[in-house]
Amino acid sequence: MNVRPRIVRSVCIISIMIALVYFFTPLRALGRSTSHFLPCKIDPRVRFEPGTERLADHVAAALPEAIAAVERQHYRTFLKPISVFVCATPESLASYGGTKNAGGFVFNGRLFISSKPQNTAERIPRLLTHELSHLHLEQYSGMLGGAWGIPSWFKEGLAVLVGDGGGAETVSESEARGAIVAGNSFEPPLRGRPLFDRSGRSYGLAEHMWYRQSELLVRFMRERDEAAFRRLLDMLLDGKSLSAAVDVAYPEGLDAVVREFRTDVAQKVSTVKSASKD
Ligand SMILES: [Zn+2]
Repeated sequence: MNVRPRIVRSVCIISIMIALVYFFTPLRALGRSTSHFLPCKIDPRVRFEPGTERLADHVAAALPEAIAAVERQHYRTFLKPISVFVCATPESLASYGGTKNAGGFVFNGRLFISSKPQNTAERIPRLLTHELSHLHLEQYSGMLGGAWGIPSWFKEGLAVLVGDGGGAETVSESEARGAIVAGNSFEPPLRGRPLFDRSGRSYGLAEHMWYRQSELLVRFMRERDEAAFRRLLDMLLDGKSLSAAVDVAYPEGLDAVVREFRTDVAQKVSTVKSASKD
């Protein structure tokens, strides 16, 4: 029996898979220490790497209202303490599980903010609220549960909505509506994917365009029936999947809601067009 070659081959395959997961997914950052981050004097829940103290002060100043905005619009308080880490370089940011060009991200209960030039004092409140929306949802649904059960379009749409446009600043609502009417849009799935979740690129859309379109859809769901939207969020925060929550809160189905949404978008675009002709 050739058992040994088979064992060697299995060990090789498992080793390669572990190496791929380590180098190409955020999992490499799971246990990375943040002990060198210094506590911000205004609010020790915000910690920073040397050289980013001023940015950390802006984050700390924005933190109470950002937390309140998330708790108000998610209809529930945070489950666990909040920690925000301001990174000095794109390399440091990436070492904690994000991409180098991200403005911020949440990974396994920790919220990271980039010190890139776009993160101005004016932008920080919106960006921070956006990321806190992700953190709030992750605290309740769990990192894996949220990744499987809640697709990225819903998480990003909710975060942009709660963050008052934070994360989608370069695309206006009217630009997003115009793209939807022109057919440059996406079919929202009901399930997420762990590690390699869909992004704008999955649909040939720029990130901010995809975020803005997602926000418009999530906002439509809320404005159409806020009681249903609250029921939906309650179920997600209780650990249910979006699919299960939609079944209860929007029994007509997501497809029907999306059709209504597109009709509403088309009406808004044509109203603007005819008003501009007057
Ligand atoms: Zn986001």
